[in-house]
Amino acid sequence: MSRCDITTVITQDTPRFLALLERHRHDRVVVLGHMRPDGDCIGAQIALCRILRAQGTEAICVNHHAIPRTLASLQHDTPFYHEPRFIPAGSHAICVDCSDLTRLGPVLGAHFPRIAANIDHHISNTNYACENIVHPDAAAACQMIAALAFDARIPLDPVTAQALYTGIVTDTGQFKYRNTTAGLLTTAARLLEHGAAADLTTRCLYENDRLDRLLLLQRCLGTFELHHGGRICAGHLTAADYAATRTAKEDAEGFIDYARNIASVAIALLLEETPAGLKGSLRAKDPRYRLDRLAATLNGGGHTLAAGFNLPGATLATHRSQILAALAIHMDGIDAAQPIDN
Ligand code: 5GP
Ligand code: MN
Repeated sequence: MSRCDITTVITQDTPRFLALLERHRHDRVVVLGHMRPDGDCIGAQIALCRILRAQGTEAICVNHHAIPRTLASLQHDTPFYHEPRFIPAGSHAICVDCSDLTRLGPVLGAHFPRIAANIDHHISNTNYACENIVHPDAAAACQMIAALAFDARIPLDPVTAQALYTGIVTDTGQFKYRNTTAGLLTTAARLLEHGAAADLTTRCLYENDRLDRLLLLQRCLGTFELHHGGRICAGHLTAADYAATRTAKEDAEGFIDYARNIASVAIALLLEETPAGLKGSLRAKDPRYRLDRLAATLNGGGHTLAAGFNLPGATLATHRSQILAALAIHMDGIDAAQPIDN
C-alpha cells in the first residue's frame, strides 16, 4: 500500500460523513470528546462543531474537563462547555477521538446512553454509536475530519483549519511518528492553505510553558527508574507533587516522552496517584508491543504506541510492582513470539 493511501481509505467514508451532516442539519447536536482532552480531541471537536454550525446546525461542544490552557486559543467563537447543564434538551451526541463510552466521563456517559455517531482513530474503539466512522490507521481524528471535509468540498474557515492542524501536530508528535505519511502531510499542507499557521500551533503547544510545570517535571524526572534490563522506564506523580507545584493533571502532558526517549527503553510507564486511584500512561517505540492490548488488561485502551488506563482504588504502594510485572510479562511474551530483527 502506498504511503498516501490512508487518505483514500478515509475518504471512502465521505458519503457517510455527508449523510451524517445532512441527517442532523436541523437537530441540536453536542460534539463530545474524551476526559482530559488533548489537542486532537479539542481540535476535532471545534472543527466538527464549526462545520455543523456553518451548515445551520445548532451545535455545541461539551467535555467532562475544560479545554487545557495551552489549547484555549483554538476556541475563538466556538461554543464549548465542560458542564452538561448547558446541553439543550433533545440533543443528539456525536463523539470524536473517543475510543469508548467510559472515556466520556461518568456524567456525560449517563446523559447520552445513545450516541448518534463516533468519529475516531483508536484501535481500541468499541464502535459504540449508531454510525461509526473509525480508522485505526489514521494518525488523528483531525486528519480524518480534514480529509473528509476536503473530499466533500466543505469550506473550512481559518479557525477550523487551525484546530485541525493542531490536532494533527499533537497526534504525530510534531510530524515525528510513523503515522506521518505523505498523505497526512498533504492534508496538513492543505490546512495551511486554508489559513492555519504552523507557528501559532508551535507557540500554543510548545512555547507556552510555566515555571511551575517545569518544577513538576523536575519532581517527576526524579522518580524515573529503569527496570527489566533498562527496557522499561517507570515514573510517577502524586497529588502532593501537584499541590507543591500549584499544577494540575493537564500539566503532566508529555512527561512520559522523557522516559520513552531513553535509548534502551522499549516501554515507558507513568503512574499518577489520585484520591480516586491510579491513572497510567504507556508509550512505546515499536508497534509490536501493542500497548492498546496491554492497557486493555489494566482497564484501559488506546493506540499501539500510546495507551492509558485507570485503576480505581489502586495506589502506588499496592499496585506499582504488579503493574511493572504485567509490563515485563507482556514484553517478554511478544519478544518470544516475534524476536526483534535489529
Ligand atoms: P494518555 O497516556 O496521554 O492519557 O493517553 C494515551 C492514549 O490512550 C490516548 O489516545 C487516550 O485516549 C488513551 N487512553 C488513556 N487513558 C485511557 C483509558 O483509561 N481508557 C482508554 N480506553 N483509553 C485511554
Ligand atoms: Mn487522537
